[in-house]
Amino acid sequence: TAPKRVCIVGSGNWGSAIAKIVGSNALRQKHIDDRVTMYVYEEMINGKKLTEIINEQHENVKYLPGHKLPPNVVAVPDVVDAAKDADILIFVIPHQFIRTLCSTLLGKIKPTAIALSLIKGFDRAEGGGIDLISHIITRHLKIPCAVLMGANLANEVADEKFCETTIGCKDVRNGPLLRDIIQTDYFRVVVVDDEDTVEVCGALKNIVACGAGFVDGLGLGDNTKAAVIRLGLMEMVKFVDVFYPGGKLSTFFESCGVADLITTCYGGRNRKVSEAYVKTGKSIKELEDEMLNGQKLQGPFTAEEVNYMLKNRGMEDKFPLFTAIHRICTGQLRPAGFIDCIRNHPEHM
Ligand code: NAD
Ligand code: 13P
Ligand code: CA
Repeated sequence: TAPKRVCIVGSGNWGSAIAKIVGSNALRQKHIDDRVTMYVYEEMINGKKLTEIINEQHENVKYLPGHKLPPNVVAVPDVVDAAKDADILIFVIPHQFIRTLCSTLLGKIKPTAIALSLIKGFDRAEGGGIDLISHIITRHLKIPCAVLMGANLANEVADEKFCETTIGCKDVRNGPLLRDIIQTDYFRVVVVDDEDTVEVCGALKNIVACGAGFVDGLGLGDNTKAAVIRLGLMEMVKFVDVFYPGGKLSTFFESCGVADLITTCYGGRNRKVSEAYVKTGKSIKELEDEMLNGQKLQGPFTAEEVNYMLKNRGMEDKFPLFTAIHRICTGQLRPAGFIDCIRNHPEHM
């Protein structure tokens, strides 16, 4: 059979780090086509197109500076061109852009293609709830979509520092293929079948990371931060229990669960910007633009989508940490009021 063609849909900080891995695995493995396309949302950098810079210098100088991409990774500015021949589509863009992208791709991809989503976040569903990004991809493009989430700060992965990740994939034939594309000796993959829980963990931990950032901004110390992380974990478990019943508790012990929570609450962008939010009083949007050079925050958006659902279901008080974080991000509550919202957490009753 012909080698599988891979397209990476996205080229931000994580998209570029994963392109480095997928590109080198494609060269090493016969059953994966050497040429890997990467959809790049085009922009000009000092008068030159980012796609041209990537294809000439093999470096994403804006989103992953200082790391070479393998030369077989080809930057393509048109997403349809990048994706049309692919057997495997790896989605890795900030979640707010997924719907537009899916409508552009509709009817333009191989009907036999499969997807892997690395996107951490939710979108809003009709009827007052939320949609998982992988479900949106499957529904719009009519292809199966597995997920990959883990304790994977992009810059550390690009530095080839050892870490683990979790692939959630129900289909027993696709799991090993996806692992082959992703796994290296420093990036270890565990495949589980509990897809939805893996994805929900990846999205929710970004909300908790905002809480960890508030704790840092307020100067409250390590014990408080550990309490916020633990209460966040308990709300994550409860969220799956209530809204995605059938999920396994063991999934929270994979890299996508506790491990991602820890790394993001110490080293992530959501933490960093949330700390600055407390210290400067500027808006989250202003700080994102100032501090992240085009990279995007997922936590405050995800908090908003979650709150939209909790409010509609009359369940805000069952998730006081998520609720407080949303209120702080949107200016409805001062950061100094954070701890009062979780003093009488349902976990303490
Ligand atoms: P990023 O935060 O670097 O986002 C910037 C990207 O968004 C750029 O490629 C930019 O071109 C693109 N973009 C901007 N406007 C756009 C538009 N209108 N349409 C399409 N694209 C547009 O991206 P990232 O770090 O690769 O994150 C992608 C996903 O991966 C997110 O869900 C994130 O939570 C997740 N993730 C990130 C990391 C990390 O450490 N960066 C680690 C694990 C998971
Ligand atoms: P941030 O978006 O907060 O940097 O988190 C990155 C991440 O998901 C690490 O696994
Ligand atoms: Ca090959």
